[in-house]
Amino acid sequence: MEFIDLKRQYAAYKEEIDQAVSRVIHSGRFVLGEEVGLLEEELAAFTGAQFAIGVSSGTDGLLLALMSMGVGPGMEVVTTPFTFIATAEAIALLGARPLFVDIDPLSFNIDATKLRELLEKRRQKGRLPAGVIPVSLYGLCADMDEINAISDEFGLFVVEDACQSLGATYKGRSSCSLSLLAATSFFPSKPLGCFGDGGMVFTSDADLRDKIVAMREHGQTKRYQHDVLGINGRLDALQAAVLRVKLKYFPQEIRSRREVAGFYAKLLASLSEHARPPRVPDGYTSVYAQYTIRIGGGIRDEVARFMNDGKIPTAIHYPKPLHLQRAFSYLGYGQGDFPEAEKACQEVLSLPMHAFLDRSEQEEVVDVLEKALKNFKKI
Ligand SMILES: *Cc1c(COP(=O)(O)O)cnc(C)c1O
Repeated sequence: MEFIDLKRQYAAYKEEIDQAVSRVIHSGRFVLGEEVGLLEEELAAFTGAQFAIGVSSGTDGLLLALMSMGVGPGMEVVTTPFTFIATAEAIALLGARPLFVDIDPLSFNIDATKLRELLEKRRQKGRLPAGVIPVSLYGLCADMDEINAISDEFGLFVVEDACQSLGATYKGRSSCSLSLLAATSFFPSKPLGCFGDGGMVFTSDADLRDKIVAMREHGQTKRYQHDVLGINGRLDALQAAVLRVKLKYFPQEIRSRREVAGFYAKLLASLSEHARPPRVPDGYTSVYAQYTIRIGGGIRDEVARFMNDGKIPTAIHYPKPLHLQRAFSYLGYGQGDFPEAEKACQEVLSLPMHAFLDRSEQEEVVDVLEKALKNFKKI
């Protein structure tokens, strides 16, 4: 069994993908170009954001979004410590300082109440951060309306880290269209993945769009004219062509992922005291970038090992919160600063999840999970 079965997905669309790849090879245009332009139009329509800008990865998308807002030394940007390192890395690489706010334990996303508390304290000190990057983790949007409202009140810009949430909805609107800027990733294991690295930035602000279009290509506005500095952050035509095929089937795959999640929830119902399934609040839909359960009682690692021995692949997203990573030790945070993030790191376990997972495989996953729980907890 595969954790994410990309071979099955390729087999399903092989003919169209092969044709698309061949088309690009014969065109001789490998970076940006027509394929990227068409993908940008299709994804703008898909998300409801006005503009989509193809970039080289989710990380570069976050970086370019922050660069377009002028983030740099002396500035601070808030985010969550319970995310992939790229979120906070983008802030730090620009010379700004990441400021962490703990998560809500049910959604695993940044806790809006704690964000407000931090900003109120900061306002008293007369030093407010420039922006906030809520992460829509595991394919579930952060509480974007609340975060936007708080950010408006305190004058912060908002960039949604939508690297796991393309295709998710929030109060009837789509992830990537919910804030000033958003960035998603097409890393192969993401819900919409390409055959290498790729990403997309979204905005409905034409000035920011123009800045990012220039900055993804070394700040170039005309050939060899550079008014600002940028990076090599372009999307490849081959990736765009593959993505355009997969995007056609993406709505169908999202439905399949939701069915898989629904069946897991059913199978897990009797175990839910020991293996809590993810919760999707009213008004939200998830794309289940990960199907992540919580195993309390300090036995998560043993359960994971037992399952892996039983040929069930699992993953831990993430085993260590960012504030305790050595790369961020200079920020001066310590153990106990973000207890919910720290606890989540001890308890989360992601189960196999993809659109082609069949029911018998899911039954096997939950069967072995149940055996593991019995083994270590004697339920
Ligand atoms: C995958 C991911 C990224 C980085 O995306 P890449 O395309 O791998 O650079 C950033 N943030 C989150 C939350 C992610 O899951």
